[in-house]
Amino acid sequence: MKAKERLKELKKSRLIKQVIFGTLFLLLLVAGWFYSLIGYFIPLCMVAGIGMASIKGRKWCDWYCPRGSFADSYMKKISPEKRVPDWLRSLPVRIGVLAFLIGMLTFQIIHLWPDPYAIGRFFMILLTITTAVGIILTLIFQQRSWCYICPIGSMSNWVGKNRNQLNIDKDACVSCKLCGKTCPMQLSPYEMKEDKQMPFRGDCLKCGLCVAACPKDALSFSGK
Ligand code: SF4
Ligand code: SF4
Repeated sequence: MKAKERLKELKKSRLIKQVIFGTLFLLLLVAGWFYSLIGYFIPLCMVAGIGMASIKGRKWCDWYCPRGSFADSYMKKISPEKRVPDWLRSLPVRIGVLAFLIGMLTFQIIHLWPDPYAIGRFFMILLTITTAVGIILTLIFQQRSWCYICPIGSMSNWVGKNRNQLNIDKDACVSCKLCGKTCPMQLSPYEMKEDKQMPFRGDCLKCGLCVAACPKDALSFSGK
């Protein structure tokens, strides 16, 4: 199959999954305000995302994550598709967001303990605020901007950075940069041709879009 057809097929199947999970996200976001125990799906996502990262890298964030799916399937339509600045992807910003959110969560759980409904409601407040921040970042930069500072995403990056790595066949690559153009995380696999590691490689979602897009079949996953 030619690269263009392969990419079209993959984009289609990925979008179907993302529309399903993105719609589920919207339903949970609304339902959680009426039945607060729904808020507990957030820690479940946290465990599932980081657990999967220890085996497959940030694969969870591709389409299993309801909010990631919502970003690609719905928010993409309102995004100006600008480049996410490096400072937003930097380690200090990620650590700062993670420390702030985990600190606030811990404080509130201790404060609200042992009321499961109040704790669930706090999870929903957190989800709503962070989703609003994600929408604002989408309007300024790109739909996946939040994914760079999402605590689950950051921890998955650190845990799964060396799992299932993307590799390049340097001789086959012709530097057309089509791989970079199709990447939802604005990564640049073609930079590996120059004996470099791909910048922000831990943020690769293992979506396979770049692999499908490459007309020279120069990209593959190590499977480790
Ligand atoms: S799409 Fe393939 S050939 Fe083109 S720059 Fe990327 S890896 Fe190289
Ligand atoms: S580098 Fe390739 S596999 Fe990784 S997120 Fe970008 S397009 Fe997907």
